[in-house]
Amino acid sequence: MESKHPTYSHLSGDPVKLAEEKLAIVSSIITTSDDAIISKNLEGIITSWNPAAEKIFGYLEDDVIGQHISLIIPPDRIEEETFIIGQIKNGIRVRHFETVRLSRTGTLVPVSLSVSPVINTEGKVIGASKILHDISDRKKADEKRAILAAIVDTSDDAIISKKLTGIITSWNKAAEKMFGYSEAEVIGKHISLIIPTERLNEEQYIIAEVIKGNKVDHFQTIRQTKDGSLVPISLSVSPIIDANGNIIGASKIARDISEQLITQQEKARLYEEVKKLNDKKDEFIGFASHELKTPITSIHGYLQMLTRLAKDEQSHIFLKKASQQVKRANSLISELLDVSKIESGKLQIHTTTFDIQQLVEDVIEMISYNNQKFKISLKSEISELLITGDSSRIEQVIINLLTNAMRYSGGNEEIIVHLSQTHDEVAVGVQDCGIGIPADQLNDIFLKYFRVDNQNHNVSGLGIGLFLCQEIINLHQGRIWVESELSKGSTFWFALPI
Ligand code: ADP
Repeated sequence: MESKHPTYSHLSGDPVKLAEEKLAIVSSIITTSDDAIISKNLEGIITSWNPAAEKIFGYLEDDVIGQHISLIIPPDRIEEETFIIGQIKNGIRVRHFETVRLSRTGTLVPVSLSVSPVINTEGKVIGASKILHDISDRKKADEKRAILAAIVDTSDDAIISKKLTGIITSWNKAAEKMFGYSEAEVIGKHISLIIPTERLNEEQYIIAEVIKGNKVDHFQTIRQTKDGSLVPISLSVSPIIDANGNIIGASKIARDISEQLITQQEKARLYEEVKKLNDKKDEFIGFASHELKTPITSIHGYLQMLTRLAKDEQSHIFLKKASQQVKRANSLISELLDVSKIESGKLQIHTTTFDIQQLVEDVIEMISYNNQKFKISLKSEISELLITGDSSRIEQVIINLLTNAMRYSGGNEEIIVHLSQTHDEVAVGVQDCGIGIPADQLNDIFLKYFRVDNQNHNVSGLGIGLFLCQEIINLHQGRIWVESELSKGSTFWFALPI
């Protein structure tokens, strides 16, 4: 049997020499030790101090010999020394006493302390030798482990680890809560415990991926709890790799997604409900505008008859005003009807080939004639240009943009219509010097029912004109956009493919 104590059989037979040789060995051990080895007398005065002690505590041997050991004891731990000395005086060793000591720089060094009595030839205790093992690294590793354990412990997700054979090796609190089994009940059992029979093949797939070193992420599936109920979960599984790089198992994180699924279902239901209500509203708008058309047309007819019969100028002025209002009502109703056609996918364009320059000129002439206080000019870079499209719908767009330019003019009566051409597009721009549009609302301007907040200066409207313009331009595979500066004016552009 091997002896626990060192044997000195290779040393010389001369007793004096033997003692010297033994001393040399002990002194070399003390010098090369990684642990601090210190000796002191019973008053606590340091009598030896090895190189490791110099390294750990930052004091040189010469600085500490003759000093009291309290030099390296934090003030709140001084009574530990009284206890240790008490033990030593009674000839009792102190083993692996974990504490902290103070270095020269004031940092605390966690150490494991072993203290033995030093006994003279008469058998009297004359001092103590201590070995201090620096346990900072172990303490750090312990702390790290404790933090990881706390994370696993407090996680809302079930965290489970298992061997490649499927045997469960760890099971956190959330797993206990999610699946109803305590840790003790499942450790050493096979993971199939929580897998519904019809899904057992999933485990084979997951393990096959893990063996290849792959992760399985957000795998949505169902697992079974202790009471037999099913939980929908999202599973992420990663290989566990040991220090040698071998895959030795798998760790899984399972998230209960029951609530997420309920929220998704609820959202889908609400979406359907809103869509149904929206369809109903569009249906109603279509129906109501259709019904309004008939009386408006008949009022329009009667107004024309009255105009023919009216003799005095006053009546003519009133009748003209009434007709203008009827026209406005008529065009609003037409726009509403168009919106309902768009919603039901029934807005169609009837294409012909027409001269865009001519169309722009005609619209300007007609609008100028009816709105004489506005000065509308044309800046055209092109002459005759034939394009294919629905001329009456394009006319509707230009009228709409010009009408807006007048309605939001803010009293500035100059309007410029631009006409330009690139190799594949013709662009029409309607520029006003009116109230402009705030930059943060430019993106929404073409949305259905959108009107700029607080900027309409008593101009009434439904917020559908620009929406219709955009739909019509889109049906022509064109583009529509706006450039605008608040209080300076806006230019609405549309471009059509040539
Ligand atoms: P409506 O004018 O009937 O409200 P539109 O769809 O034509 O509906 O216009 C939407 C909004 O865009 C308007 O309410 C107005 O706030 C803004 N807008 C449209 N054209 C102009 C313009 N030329 N200058 C300033 N603001 C405009």
